[in-house]
Amino acid sequence: MSITLPPGVEVFERGWLSANNILLHGRSPEEGAVLIDTGYVTHAPQTVALVDAALLDEERLRLIVNTHLHSDHCGGNSALVERHGCGVQIPPGDFSAVRTWDEARLSYQATGQQCPRFQANAVICPGEQLRHGELAWQVHAAPGHDPHSILLFEPSTRTLISADALWERGFGIIFPELDGEAAFDEVEQTLDLIQSLRPAVVIPGHGAVFSDVQQALAIAKQKLEHFRRDPARHARHGAKALTVFHLLEVQQQPRSELLDWLVRTPVLMSSWQRFFADGPSLHAWSKGLVDELVENGVLTAETLPSGAASIKVAKATT
Ligand SMILES: [Zn+2]
Repeated sequence: MSITLPPGVEVFERGWLSANNILLHGRSPEEGAVLIDTGYVTHAPQTVALVDAALLDEERLRLIVNTHLHSDHCGGNSALVERHGCGVQIPPGDFSAVRTWDEARLSYQATGQQCPRFQANAVICPGEQLRHGELAWQVHAAPGHDPHSILLFEPSTRTLISADALWERGFGIIFPELDGEAAFDEVEQTLDLIQSLRPAVVIPGHGAVFSDVQQALAIAKQKLEHFRRDPARHARHGAKALTVFHLLEVQQQPRSELLDWLVRTPVLMSSWQRFFADGPSLHAWSKGLVDELVENGVLTAETLPSGAASIKVAKATT
């Protein structure tokens, strides 16, 4: 079934390492274009090329808006600003951390991910509107996956840009919960907000654009209840998702190096400490995670001539 997007809206569906990018054209090339989210740094050249190919003659990229500042949503900011000299608007909760480039507050240190430094010149606040082209997008707070995330809703076409608050089959890791901060209720409130907006079309942060929003909300609520009943299960799910993300970044890694990465990545260390420290050691727990991902076919292990194993993400998962 083909889904109609609002006039002037183009979606670059990426994958899991890079979030989707949404290009909003203006009414005329002179108005310029706005890009929502910019992907992961290692894909930045591809992001720049996708934007270049989509811009019309005489059209320039005037603004980047980030739904939130996870590395897979703003890793192309720096390259795009360098190329287009565009502005960058971000949610207000991260503004001071960006100004001083505080990588601890910005999650890159904790997750062992990279994001090149960029400057933001304005905030985009819940309650405001992003007016561009024919469309006026409402800005809503969407805490849960990330405390500062926003989502964008265009009421005349009932189109929602949901970032990682709602995917077709779930939502992003609930990061505050990994740090011991309660956020299951925030996820629920954000899902209730989405339900109340009654979107007809959802442009998610990852995966294809979809229109069966009731089904997506039902799946998300079921997953949330499952995690809420057993927060350790959520922590294990988060650790596996971060491991797969890391392997998508490095592409392939000897098993011993991968285990070294797991045991020194702060968010994984703290998850283990919080939820699993009365069981196997951090190293054994990490090894168990990788073994399980290999057994389930998410990762594949290849034996090198040296006898060592090299791990990568199975094709079907990317
Ligand atoms: Zn995210």
